[in-house]
Amino acid sequence: MVSRVIPVDVFDLVIFGGTGDLARRKILPGLYRRFMAGQMVAESRIIGAARADLTDESFRQQVREAIAEFVPKARQDATAIEAFLERIHYVAIDATGTNGWAALKALMRENVVRAFYFSVAPSLFGDIAQRLSENGIADAWSRIVVEKPFGRDLASAKALNEVLAKHFNETQIYRIDHYLGKETVQNLMAVRFANILFEPLWKAEYIDHVQITVAETVGVDGRGAYYDKSGAMRDMVQNHLMQLLCLIAMEPPYHFDPDAVRDEKLKVIRALKPVTHEDIVRGQYGGGKGEKSYVVHSENPASRTESYIALKVQISNWRWQGVPFYLRTGKRLRARASEIAITFKQPPHAIFDDASGWHENVLVIRLQPNEGMNLMVMIKEPGPGGMRLMQVPLDMSFADAIDDAEDVPDAYERLIMDVIRGNQTLFMRGDEVEAAWAWTDPIIQGWEARGDKPQTYDPGSSGPEDALMLMHRDGRRWREIRE
Ligand code: NAP
Repeated sequence: MVSRVIPVDVFDLVIFGGTGDLARRKILPGLYRRFMAGQMVAESRIIGAARADLTDESFRQQVREAIAEFVPKARQDATAIEAFLERIHYVAIDATGTNGWAALKALMRENVVRAFYFSVAPSLFGDIAQRLSENGIADAWSRIVVEKPFGRDLASAKALNEVLAKHFNETQIYRIDHYLGKETVQNLMAVRFANILFEPLWKAEYIDHVQITVAETVGVDGRGAYYDKSGAMRDMVQNHLMQLLCLIAMEPPYHFDPDAVRDEKLKVIRALKPVTHEDIVRGQYGGGKGEKSYVVHSENPASRTESYIALKVQISNWRWQGVPFYLRTGKRLRARASEIAITFKQPPHAIFDDASGWHENVLVIRLQPNEGMNLMVMIKEPGPGGMRLMQVPLDMSFADAIDDAEDVPDAYERLIMDVIRGNQTLFMRGDEVEAAWAWTDPIIQGWEARGDKPQTYDPGSSGPEDALMLMHRDGRRWREIRE
């Protein structure tokens, strides 16, 4: 099957922080790929904005280098790159001052989609929103894209929502969580709601438990100072893991429509039970054998910030009564692997004996690497010798269903195109973010009040020992972390 590419409207996209790391690694190479795919109409323009004193030409050179570094060689086409670069402009602007705003206003065109990507530190979001509005650069149809982190607790998230709301309506604000842009995450909704097969089983009666794992091999090298004020709970659970949990747990929306989907996700967040401290394991990676420990990376020898967290989470509603969701995420773990695993219950009556080799059905949704889905089912082991069972995967990987998996847009590409189309389905609404913090805050406050220290774990391991116990005591096991 050939994937369809539908061009989006003509746009002017201003990237505040256009010279920064995120723009260089993800946003600009992603836009080039959409240009290559024919999705970006030729008259569209991308305007980089930062304080550095650059010309259009010197910024284009930076973009050329970013494409050379972050786009696979096979996708680098010299003619297309030059055509793409003609769409690139630059304005030197100070988010907190007066420099550059008149020049930006002069550059913007009428009657095209105006989008403003805030790829800068969150402390600048309010300044930029205010100046866009006061200088008459943003109009009622403009969109702003806001990067994470969206606050560090409920109070700061509320304050940020209020600042943005002074200048933009909720329908203009796109809070990005790139996990929601992943192909498989959207596929999860398709599998759940476009098939009759799964939804009847999607409840406590048939599901034993759910595991959500986001494991990284990298440490916090280079971002230690930032990360030390955040930790795995704020950096990963409050946003990415919570969003994944919502998509698994939500009720079917009445329509695949931004607010219908987000209403259902919000209900899940509001139904999350408070987590007791016995259901939380925090870890911090140690060092040794030439490896630097977390406290060295963070340059804070007394740090109690967690680089790993595992939690047992319960949802207080009819569908999920008694079904635990085990969440874990961490750095410097054995492999880079993100997946959701839904383990089904035993059949009500076992006709095969214990020695038959029976295992539960598990639906595994891989987010990275090798995005795809597998449904583990039992079949008879081929050959003579009695009835022995074996577990085999029913592979539902989307990569096999299309001609060229390399052409599948990455999360940022897809989400930026959604902004231009004006589709907010895969972006977090303000009330969702606040509800997520309202659940997260007491958990963090609890361990801070108790003065809990995270347990040290070996780099390259599966995390702290106590995390194993979190599941063992329920008679369950974590799935192995592997690529
Ligand atoms: P970065 O590398 O530090 O880049 C910051 C950008 O902001 C630079 O272009 C900088 O250029 C510009 N800037 C700083 N102060 C400014 C001001 N007063 N006025 C105008 N421009 C200013 O940061 P980043 O890693 O790209 O991150 C950007 C945002 O994305 C942050 O909110 C971050 O949390 C989020 N994020 C990043 C990643 C990632 O992988 N990097 C992942 C997820 C989320 P000048 O210094 O020349 O002004």
